Amino acid sequence: MRIVKFSYKKKEEWGVLEDGIINILKQSPFSKIIRTKKHIPLKKVSLLVPAQASKVVLVGLNYRDHARELNMKIPREPIIFLKSPTALIAHKQRIIYPEGVKRLDYEAELALVIKKKAKNIPQKKAHEYILGYTCLNDVTARDLQKKDGQWTRAKSFDTFCPAGPWIETVLNPSKLGIKACLNSKTKQDSSTSNFIFSVPYIISFISRVMTLLPGDIISTGTPPGIGKMQIGDNITIEIDGIGRLQNKVSL
Ligand code: MG
Repeated sequence: MRIVKFSYKKKEEWGVLEDGIINILKQSPFSKIIRTKKHIPLKKVSLLVPAQASKVVLVGLNYRDHARELNMKIPREPIIFLKSPTALIAHKQRIIYPEGVKRLDYEAELALVIKKKAKNIPQKKAHEYILGYTCLNDVTARDLQKKDGQWTRAKSFDTFCPAGPWIETVLNPSKLGIKACLNSKTKQDSSTSNFIFSVPYIISFISRVMTLLPGDIISTGTPPGIGKMQIGDNITIEIDGIGRLQNKVSL
């Protein structure tokens, strides 16, 4: 099932997308998915970030092929960090290139949206807490990441977290092709089969640190091939079984 969040005539709604038509839901999908009898074509609405994140938690190095590329050791436990939820933007919204930043990078990532409150979750039960999966671009001011010695500023400028276009609820996250295309040229091309830490491991690990709330986003790291974007570039994150998240970089 594809779950969308959208705005139409200034009203925010949730829906289920089938063949280009949205079936509007009665309420947010976190408690229960209840369909109404109302429908609207996808092309009439503006898509919103399909979440209601109190936080966005990301994993640093999580692809074996990316670790090899960087000549780094395989980490023994996940390195996690936060992005401000105010950095979130939807499919087709613009990534703003901040003044003074010298290198702005894309990072294609598989993200998941949390369905219900999660604390100290064993790996075996992790699937019960996932509403579904979406594409995420972990936009990073690489020069500031190096300069600051920690990542908050480099990762959390407004618009630095494109996510969408929707949530796919039925998906096996362990073998998905993942790509980043910059102006139609493929720059990242890998598979989640290269994960160092699986999705259940990541959820279990993070939930032992902080309580995850419905609508929170967890992002699972990026494969090799990260690189820089310039003003005017179009960046697309594509994941098998989900779709394409497209954003343009602008001033
Ligand atoms: Mg990342």
